[in-house]
Amino acid sequence: MKKKILLALLASAAALTGCANMESLGSDQEVVAAANQSCRQMDQKNTITHQYDGRMAIIRQGLPTQVGGQTLNYQVYKTKDMNAWAMPNGCVRVYSALIDRLNNDEVRAVLGHEIGHVALRHSVQQYRTNRGVAIALSAGGALGSLVGLDGTGSDLMQQVAYSAISAQYSQALETEADNYSVDLLLKEPNGKQKALAMASALKKISTGDADSGIMQKMFGDHPDTSKRIKNVEDRVAAAGNVK
Ligand SMILES: [Zn+2]
Repeated sequence: MKKKILLALLASAAALTGCANMESLGSDQEVVAAANQSCRQMDQKNTITHQYDGRMAIIRQGLPTQVGGQTLNYQVYKTKDMNAWAMPNGCVRVYSALIDRLNNDEVRAVLGHEIGHVALRHSVQQYRTNRGVAIALSAGGALGSLVGLDGTGSDLMQQVAYSAISAQYSQALETEADNYSVDLLLKEPNGKQKALAMASALKKISTGDADSGIMQKMFGDHPDTSKRIKNVEDRVAAAGNVK
């Protein structure tokens, strides 16, 4: 059911992309302000756990703490869904099931990917692309309910949350975020092995349990997931003799 709605949304987005007036839509500042609200609302709706703080501290060691003028802040939600997302204000949220299932290198690669979305300002771009979706539905609330928000936020807020949480960045943006993570990890000791963890994380996420959540539902049988995996493997192979 969810998937059908999401696919319909995507189809409307594709149909409407051409009509948007880019200049008039969501400035960076507006998008960041909306993200602040969305992130607070998500934190209220979910159960934040500190059970993983020790492991997260190890995993995050050496990753950027600030990108694009935003300070990254992390929380872990206790949930059986496998997901991770970032909003343009630097709010990065990781779901406990993802940390349970992935090893440290794989979680680190996923964090690199999420940091990439923030650094490359994907939310701003995607909001501008997705703007037509909300208009087509005539309600941000419908989007919000898909990702567990209560629909009380602004249209922009719903959009920002929707893009981040439902992993509905375009495949091009997903690949850019994968590449950001791979390039970041290639600079580290054992860089190739660390960067390849992006590919194995994608494999694990895409073969998760049937109830492992929206990310798996979207990516599980998605042909583009195998393209993303191959892109990561090719990029690492092309990196030559990095240590
Ligand atoms: Zn992503």
